[in-house]
Amino acid sequence: MTRIVVVGASHAGAQLAVSLRQEGWPDDIEMIGDEPVLPYQRPPLSKGFLAGTTSVDDLLIRSEALYAKQQIKLRQSRVTAIDRVSHTITLTDGQSLHYDKLALCLGARPRLPSIPGVSLPGVHVLRSLADVQGIRAELEPAHHVVILGAGYIGLEAAASLRQLGVAVTVLESADRVLARVTAPVVSDFYTRIHREAGVDLRTNAQVAALVGDERVTGVALASGEIIAADLVIIGIGVIPNTELAAEAGLVVDNGIVIDAQAVSSDPDIVAIGDCARFTCPHYDRPLRLESVPNANEQAKVAAATLCGKSKRISALPWFWSDQYDLKLQIAGLNTGYDAIELIGNPDTDRHFACLYFREKRLIAADCINHPQEFMRSKLAISEQLKSGSAITSASTPSPT
Ligand code: FAD
Repeated sequence: MTRIVVVGASHAGAQLAVSLRQEGWPDDIEMIGDEPVLPYQRPPLSKGFLAGTTSVDDLLIRSEALYAKQQIKLRQSRVTAIDRVSHTITLTDGQSLHYDKLALCLGARPRLPSIPGVSLPGVHVLRSLADVQGIRAELEPAHHVVILGAGYIGLEAAASLRQLGVAVTVLESADRVLARVTAPVVSDFYTRIHREAGVDLRTNAQVAALVGDERVTGVALASGEIIAADLVIIGIGVIPNTELAAEAGLVVDNGIVIDAQAVSSDPDIVAIGDCARFTCPHYDRPLRLESVPNANEQAKVAAATLCGKSKRISALPWFWSDQYDLKLQIAGLNTGYDAIELIGNPDTDRHFACLYFREKRLIAADCINHPQEFMRSKLAISEQLKSGSAITSASTPSPT
């Protein structure tokens, strides 16, 4: 009996385990995750779950019965080492486990700013179910929450907290929100929407320290101003969990480096999801993507690979973000765009699209409450690869 061990039980790991059965893997599948819950969906954490409209049961990716039926063994533990010579992994309790093939689905963890006060009680990150349960347990209607970072997670959290009636300030160090991932016109739109919803949204805000004695009571800006805070949420991006792979001698470079079939520098180890770096065929450059569609697609490719079949990572990157009544759907990556075109009017509408072009070719689209334009753009950008041309560009974005 041969065994595939899947390390990390979230979007990538859970999809991989199920896809392995679909691809016909007949032997042992053991999935090891260090969170004390069944694999769950992370996107609702900053949306419905924070707002209190989604329950824990709604979050589960699959039921416990499904894993049992598929004979996928779940183990709650943390893997502390990989011995590639003996094909064993070590768990926190010192036990070791043999693998024939290993799948690293280790994800990412929140990045923390190097400022005083980050470990004060009342300072939270927003990555796991436990994180949001911690936030909700402390939250009171009269509270003032300060969010560091106006990326997707910071803005989604702001929208959810406003739905609860909580006072919210968002501090962004850049000169506009979503600066790494959207055009200024889309940033301006979201700034207006959040301010209209009552968020005190400040750009060019440099945070010097989180202050308080027994717990956080404020955020000190470099300007000397102190903003009072009952609770602080840090949403300034993530760091891929690559240490386990690096210590085992795998090639790591801002992610575990994998090929088009999700195989790492060790032929018996695949890596997928937020922790993996691959060369995207559409853009012909290395990327590490942080999205559920990416985790799911790579899981399906890795399952095929582990079952001796040939599938390649080929989907166009896409993302979504929900804030208030707005569904943003993004097709492709806009890095290196030289022109934009708007469909609709972001100054007045809650329904528009921003198309990004490079040398007159469509490379990406941000579609706000515009699913038709999203589908059309996604198809149009994907077709370009089929016609044999990748979109090339110098830099590497990492949407968060
Ligand atoms: P993760 O979900 O990070 O899972 C990795 C798992 O491995 C974790 O459970 C971790 O604890 C475990 N682990 C790590 N090391 C070990 C070890 N040594 N031993 C055992 N277990 C280990 N994406 C979208 O596409 N759309 C969205 O709207 C969206 N919203 C998001 C909102 C929030 C609040 C967050 C946090 C993320 C959001 N994302 C969204 C991103 C998306 O959730 C991630 O891309 C996705 O979770 C990646 O899945 P993963 O399995 O690769 O990694």
